[in-house]
Amino acid sequence: MLYRWLGKTLAKLSVVAVALCVFSAGEGACEDGLLLRVGLASWGFSVKSIVFSSASGLKLFDASGSMLLETEGDECIRLSADGGVFVTRVGLQVKSSPGPFVVAVSRASDAITIQSADNKRARRYRGKIEARLKPVGMQLINIVSLEDYIMGVVSAEMPSSYPLEALKAQAITARTYALANFGKHRAEDFDLCDTSHCQTYNGVSAETPRAAEAVRTTEELVLTYEGKLASVMYSSDCGGATQDISEVRPNVRLPYLCSVTEPMEIPHITWEFSMSLPELKEKLVSGGLKQCANMSAISVAKISSSGRVLQFEIVTDSGKIQIEGHKVRSALGLSLVKSLLLTVEQTQDGIVIFKGKGAGHGIGLCQVGTKWLASAPTNWSYEQILEHYFPGTRLQSLRAISASGVVRVLKTLPQNLPTDTLQRTSIVDESRYNSESIARHRQSESGCSLAFDVRVEAPDGL
Ligand SMILES: [Zn+2]
Ligand SMILES: [Zn+2]
Repeated sequence: MLYRWLGKTLAKLSVVAVALCVFSAGEGACEDGLLLRVGLASWGFSVKSIVFSSASGLKLFDASGSMLLETEGDECIRLSADGGVFVTRVGLQVKSSPGPFVVAVSRASDAITIQSADNKRARRYRGKIEARLKPVGMQLINIVSLEDYIMGVVSAEMPSSYPLEALKAQAITARTYALANFGKHRAEDFDLCDTSHCQTYNGVSAETPRAAEAVRTTEELVLTYEGKLASVMYSSDCGGATQDISEVRPNVRLPYLCSVTEPMEIPHITWEFSMSLPELKEKLVSGGLKQCANMSAISVAKISSSGRVLQFEIVTDSGKIQIEGHKVRSALGLSLVKSLLLTVEQTQDGIVIFKGKGAGHGIGLCQVGTKWLASAPTNWSYEQILEHYFPGTRLQSLRAISASGVVRVLKTLPQNLPTDTLQRTSIVDESRYNSESIARHRQSESGCSLAFDVRVEAPDGL
């Protein structure tokens, strides 16, 4: 809906858009076309063989836009990447394509099921699936609308048992994050990945009616700061106080990512583990911290205003050294050291005990806190929750900020064209690309290549 509106608005504002809308008249032109390319990293990037199906049947196109195969009903297409070519099979029909990609499109816009060749794993996705040849096997990319993507993210990132207002706050945070980080994986042919590196996204398989409701009722809403998209972040459990980003990334000035404490006692998780000094030493060294090879003690040297460890002090044979908290955390493993809100004790017999609170980096929205703030007795609305975790930000609809120039639609094209290039959507965050790469990027997308091209001006520094 929004993008249809944007398309119309821009048709009025821009000669390019007018021309393209006329060009594509009669083909369902200027439809809601803000599409993301989500790299399905959770399937791996050297998939040898995969099976596609969809309730209404599938069409499989090659990179030139020619249809390779089609199916009816829930018949399966088996796709293998073998020796630098795709081999596709439906029943006894076998066709090959030299790549570089093929796109699977459902006949009636149903979800597409991807199944592993050994039938052990299956997952359903809205939108289209592109398979791209890699030196070994192929990588899978889900081409999906922003709102459908957000539905998959909210469902995967937050339990659907959480109050609706918490799910709404998560939806808006996830939508803002997606737009502000659009193109993070551009070098790998997609925009965002489906793991917690970007945001966890499990397609339709994870969707719940409550998450869908939260996404629908907050459609278009994003957080802005001083007229720009906010660079929001979130983590699962802040342990009682969120982390000020400027203390871990000193060059970043984002006043809304300051340290806040929840206005009531919230059951944040606590955790504890211990290991002998030699064991700790071995883990730190094998985790890349070679300077710990001769360590004899570890303690906390410096904490942030929220209490997180910024620096550890390590005593070694050749003196004391300081190592940043996050380096120790990643060397030991993020699932073991759940957060840096911790204390370290060393017993006389050489056992090191870590005790901590919370899970995750602790910057921005706290998912557990959100759950409790949206529950009785506080019963906060999603507006109150977002104002608490991102103070000073504004809730705005994409259409409002597009009119003010934060998100600008440069051109629109019909999205019902078959190949990847014709469906490619792009949000160019110019702060992240030099002018040369933008020029190249645009050139590669010329010739009816975009369903939509939106320019996002992200805040400086992130
Ligand atoms: Zn990622
Ligand atoms: Zn919290």
